[in-house]
Amino acid sequence: MPHLILSDIHANLEALDAVLRDAKGQYDLILCLGDLVDYGADPNPVVEWTRANTLVTIRGNHDKACCGADSLEHFHPAARASAMWTRTVLSRENVDYLDRLPRGPLRFENYDLVHGSPADEDEYLITILDVDRAREAIDARVTFFGHTHVQGGFLLTRQAIRRIDPNRVLEVEPDHFYLVNPGSVGQPRDSDPRAAYALYSPDAQTVEYHRVEYDIEKAAHKIRAAGLPEQHAARLFVGI
Ligand code: ZN
Repeated sequence: MPHLILSDIHANLEALDAVLRDAKGQYDLILCLGDLVDYGADPNPVVEWTRANTLVTIRGNHDKACCGADSLEHFHPAARASAMWTRTVLSRENVDYLDRLPRGPLRFENYDLVHGSPADEDEYLITILDVDRAREAIDARVTFFGHTHVQGGFLLTRQAIRRIDPNRVLEVEPDHFYLVNPGSVGQPRDSDPRAAYALYSPDAQTVEYHRVEYDIEKAAHKIRAAGLPEQHAARLFVGI
């Protein structure tokens, strides 16, 4: 059975529910690449769901910031505002859970999980050059990463680095290395506002990328009602 790979849920319960409905019956375990909280209005329900349902979850930069393990000084003002709000509403148990999350890279079976990059959990893999710089830190044949909120990732051959097209099923070949981004469940930034996730089959050696529509109106309404920055609500409709 495939593994359900989630990343960057960002306290968006409507997007998470839609992903779980869409993927139902197609996986036997769930892994999460971090950033459970911040930006969205449902940090407690999302952390509680994660605690109860994921087999392995690693920490993201927003998880560190919202449990107080990291300062907010590198955050832009809107992210700082929502992180401060998240700190005030998170339950003690959920803060403790975020604080105890392991950092990536973390090996699961024969593949790796990282939030940002194999070289640094807080680094972004956006360009081919970013990937080239992180190349030496890549260990497993397949590494899942998040942080950029862009579905797809990169294929590394001996000669080149190429982007992976998430519109096709990825077939993992033994000669190459793969950095695979399932996309963001709760705040996509690849101009497609639908919630993103991936199903990885270690037996078939395939990755299926998925997108699913969800009730953006409801998630945005909750963000506004909580008094969180308007841009966190507005961006959900356009996926940027
Ligand atoms: Zn994130």
